[in-house]
Amino acid sequence: MAHVKTALVIGGGIAGPVTALALRKAGIDASVYEAHDVAAEGVGAMLSVAPNGLDALRIIGADKAVEAAGQAVPGVVMADGSGNQLSEFRGFPGLSATVTLDRADLLGTLTGYALAAGVRIQYGKRLVAADQTSERVTATFSDGTTATADVLIGADGIRSMVRTLVAPDAPGPEYGGVLSFGGYSRSDVPAEPGTMYFAFGRTFVGYWRLPDNRICWFASLPRTEPLSSVEVARIPATAWLTQLRELYAGHVPGETLLAQTDPGDLMATGPMERMPSLPRWQRGRMVLVGDAAHAPSSSSGQGASLAIESAVELARCLRDLPNSTAAFTAYERLRRPRVETIGGNAAATNKAKAGQAGDRPAMPTPEQMFAPVHRHHIEWDETVLAEHDLPNT
Ligand SMILES: Cc1cc2nc3c(=O)[nH]c(=O)nc-3n(C[C@H](O)[C@H](O)[C@H](O)COP(=O)(O)OP(=O)(O)OC[C@H]3O[C@@H](n4cnc5c(N)ncnc54)[C@H](O)[C@@H]3O)c2cc1C
Repeated sequence: MAHVKTALVIGGGIAGPVTALALRKAGIDASVYEAHDVAAEGVGAMLSVAPNGLDALRIIGADKAVEAAGQAVPGVVMADGSGNQLSEFRGFPGLSATVTLDRADLLGTLTGYALAAGVRIQYGKRLVAADQTSERVTATFSDGTTATADVLIGADGIRSMVRTLVAPDAPGPEYGGVLSFGGYSRSDVPAEPGTMYFAFGRTFVGYWRLPDNRICWFASLPRTEPLSSVEVARIPATAWLTQLRELYAGHVPGETLLAQTDPGDLMATGPMERMPSLPRWQRGRMVLVGDAAHAPSSSSGQGASLAIESAVELARCLRDLPNSTAAFTAYERLRRPRVETIGGNAAATNKAKAGQAGDRPAMPTPEQMFAPVHRHHIEWDETVLAEHDLPNT
């Protein structure tokens, strides 16, 4: 039986509704407060929910809804930039297939699921301040309203306001040296449905075939000085396509994919960023979850999945431990090593894409790459131990 009874979840993105659903399952009443006036319909490009993210969603019963909203892409093929296949992988037996979908569809599915389960989501509530006592925490929003609960959870993304309250000395997001782009190509490049292709070489492109037969691709453009998403959006798509086509000239199949992409089908998703390790994830009755704590950079394909895992694990800790301090300490202990390893690996990938990596290390097989990430399971029914109850402490 949870000792913490009520929670304010700041941010109604991906981690927000999942946190609220998991808290409800843990017996804690949670309300979500989102800065925007409506759920961000149509905002964001494609993202993946990996087997580990789906496994965590199964605990709150939302895995099937997400699978139904997306496209299953269980296979991976790796190739060099000259068209030679290097390795092939068909997924791990017993694990769900990775699902790709528009961020807006994932958001819509999770939000709908949370609302149907009775979670309250309030829009137009931008957190501007929070005050805590030993008993309660009160959030203040930009419209002057307030809300009070036992704990406050910052699910407010990579530019988190809650992080500035929890860890004022924390570094900001770290630029990975590349701008990210995606697009839809009507090319006849060979691509089996249900397979994600990664083509390396001098530069890199990832792609897969959509149900409507177009190919969705993602690629990056090295750039020393970062541009914000708004600055990237100010530059016409034709200018970005020209730069990308120059970079990918001679790359198989990057050159063809880009040649057969219309400017209107280009998605400029902005600078590749990740959160470096934070000095702390919690302060008093406030804690961070998702990108606010550990954005791993989109090159990991794990942003949404790790956010979902952390949300579920946080709820489990609050369910089992006698107070918020003990729960947040256990949560950080359970989550930090995993998310920081995955984030560190993604940072190394970004350096390679930006041409800053020196000698390229031997490429792992897909099994080696994905096994520790995809084969992660949260034992919801197992009781979380407090720090002093752990063996050898
Ligand atoms: C608009 C948008 C588009 C994205 N597009 C992509 C994409 O195309 N591909 C990809 O891989 N990843 C994308 N991401 C990132 C991806 O959603 C996250 O990496 C991942 O899902 C982790 O989710 P999260 O809930 O921690 O953070 P987010 O999904 O970023 O959600 C954070 C939420 O908090 C809200 N918020 C922020 N500040 C406050 C505040 N002060 N008070 C209240 N609410 C606040 C934001 O409006 C947002 O809804 C996008 C994120 C956003 C916000």
